[in-house]
Amino acid sequence: MLLNIQDLYVHYKSYWYIHKVLNGVWLRMMEGERVGVIGETGSGKTTLLKSILRILPQNAVIPNGMIKFKEIDMLKAGETELSMVRRREIGMIFQDPMAALNPVFKIKDQLYDVIRYKLFAEGYNPTKEELHDHAVKVLNDVKLPDYERVLESYPFQLSGGMRQRVMIAMALISAGKLLLADEPTTNIDVTIQDQILKLIDRLVKQRGLSTILVSHALGMVRQMTDRAYVLYAGDIMEEARTSELFDHPAHPYTSLLISSAPKISTREIGEGIRGKLPDYRSPPIGCRFAPRCPYAMDKCHTIKPKRTIINTDHAVTCHLYE
Ligand code: SF4
Repeated sequence: MLLNIQDLYVHYKSYWYIHKVLNGVWLRMMEGERVGVIGETGSGKTTLLKSILRILPQNAVIPNGMIKFKEIDMLKAGETELSMVRRREIGMIFQDPMAALNPVFKIKDQLYDVIRYKLFAEGYNPTKEELHDHAVKVLNDVKLPDYERVLESYPFQLSGGMRQRVMIAMALISAGKLLLADEPTTNIDVTIQDQILKLIDRLVKQRGLSTILVSHALGMVRQMTDRAYVLYAGDIMEEARTSELFDHPAHPYTSLLISSAPKISTREIGEGIRGKLPDYRSPPIGCRFAPRCPYAMDKCHTIKPKRTIINTDHAVTCHLYE
């Protein structure tokens, strides 16, 4: 198994409150798998990815859980071990390339740093020419033309699509095994979103990488993943093979989420799901979806449902199936 997350809780402390975001999340993936995580904005998807790399903000605490990457216990690993994983094993494409790239350094300096950081971990100290050649190669891989101009540019001098390609290039340098993609097309023009997705898909396949693609765009997850998890308010509600999840959703939230997505074929626009995500300062103690669920029973408001396996590769967290 490449990645095994069990019973993961993540809280954020603010001055007065504790925001209980992840609420016992599980996720497992084998080497070479492409896994999707879908859910509304604010359901904890980015927190989950950042937990894997241990790059959560300082006010985050992990009161319980396990994250095992290969044989490494990521929650107990020391800085040296974590640094090796971040340099050579796991790369991450962040949601907003403008925020992820440093605005005061040229692209070449930022790329050289990532390449140097990785090669140092392999015991090699590259020359300036080698850094340049490596940077040109990764820019070629992400199909960025005019690479000399790109290398000499500051992030603000590039278009959104070009910045995202630079981000992908950087993530791929460190992603020896696993690529984490956090809403990779959210902040770019709709006309090039498809190109970026195809690029990620091609590079992942070429390099035999495993991926976790996090998105609220259901079509993207359906197209690009083998298995998918549905995350709602910090709880995994359902897990299945992607085709099974979309064709035969079992959890009430998954069904509502899929039926509320606009359909191009029939020009229908779904009604959406009534209500909103709970307040993480005082989330529901039973099922977190209970205030919005049309099937909610009394016990849904007081008892947290358990993960129930309904058939091979298909599990659901709902009292209706226990
Ligand atoms: Fe709805 Fe209850 Fe199932 Fe939650 S546990 S999804 S409230 S039926």
